[in-house]
Amino acid sequence: MKYCKKCLTTDLRPNASFKAGVCIACSYTNSVQDDNSSLKLNILQRKIQQSRKKQRNKGAYDCIVGVSGGKDSTRQAHWVRDRLGLRPLIVCCAYPPKQMSEIGAKNLTNLMEMGFDVVVATPAPQTAAHLALESFKQFGNVCKSTEMSLFSTVPRLAIELGVNTIFWGENPALQVGDAAVEGFDEFDGNNLRRLNTLTAGGTDWLKEEVKSAYLAEHYLYPNEIEFEKKKINIFYLGPAWDDWSNDDNSVYASLQGLTLRPGEELETGDLSNASMLDEEFTNINMMLKYYKFGFGRATDSVNEQIRAGKLSRAEAIKIVETYDGVCSDRIINSYANYVGITINEFWNIANHWVNSEIFDIHDGKRPTKKFKVGINYES
Ligand SMILES: [Zn+2]
Repeated sequence: MKYCKKCLTTDLRPNASFKAGVCIACSYTNSVQDDNSSLKLNILQRKIQQSRKKQRNKGAYDCIVGVSGGKDSTRQAHWVRDRLGLRPLIVCCAYPPKQMSEIGAKNLTNLMEMGFDVVVATPAPQTAAHLALESFKQFGNVCKSTEMSLFSTVPRLAIELGVNTIFWGENPALQVGDAAVEGFDEFDGNNLRRLNTLTAGGTDWLKEEVKSAYLAEHYLYPNEIEFEKKKINIFYLGPAWDDWSNDDNSVYASLQGLTLRPGEELETGDLSNASMLDEEFTNINMMLKYYKFGFGRATDSVNEQIRAGKLSRAEAIKIVETYDGVCSDRIINSYANYVGITINEFWNIANHWVNSEIFDIHDGKRPTKKFKVGINYES
């Protein structure tokens, strides 16, 4: 396992791309440091105008903003309405009641009360729970089907409603270094369909696991022909800000009444206490990601700060040593209950996905790591 020289990204990350020992996210930061953010806003606005000219929207809305009820949602919705001057329809792919957290429900309510029209789409709970277990068994990813549903619902509704401009917040290519989704430029989200979670393993497994074919629809990303027919364009808002980051978005959202989770770092492994507010199972996925690839959410979080010049690599290593891979037994228990397995069964499935080159595996228990953070490791 090799680390990026500048941050703590490892070469085990899916679609990782390194040039001369530096990851794409770090090289991007270096190349745009002098860019003018107001110029970027102009570029984005021009692109939106071009997109809207291509297709007259049938209804009252100019665009769809895809949200989750988390911290970025508030900022995206406000920015599209108030800075870009558009009439947004907010589309939220919500979780089944047993998965959705109380904080998530509160935050979604808060967003509605700010005066937005919101469409909430929720998958059938029994199907969702079954697919969450199959995602875990077949892909070692408890959120795979959830993410498929999240990313697919927004373009699916855009196509059905005839609203051709879609906004997402962050560009996964730049924020976490997923080269497969890199678009024409940093605003271009039309390659989102290549996101690892949507492509890995195809869709046949999902179609086989649902009781009726129509129940799969909720999870399937519309194909390129449907996108082309309706002239659908996806844009990322993140690059048009000079201060788009997890920390800035949390502060903004808190000021707007968002409920956070103070003091739960050692429960969730989340340093900001502001990610994954809408449900808790993503924390398990962050832990699994750590066991598979040798890095977790603390790594993603400190990498942003290293690139922003707020944290040294040495300080970052200490934080990652403490928080990467943290996820409490309570959360694991809650997931096991949701999908109908025991804790023992949970760890036996999980251990199947652990990278044994960098972790020691123990039957029915948590693995332990062999490597030291920030230092290239060979087993
Ligand atoms: Zn890097």
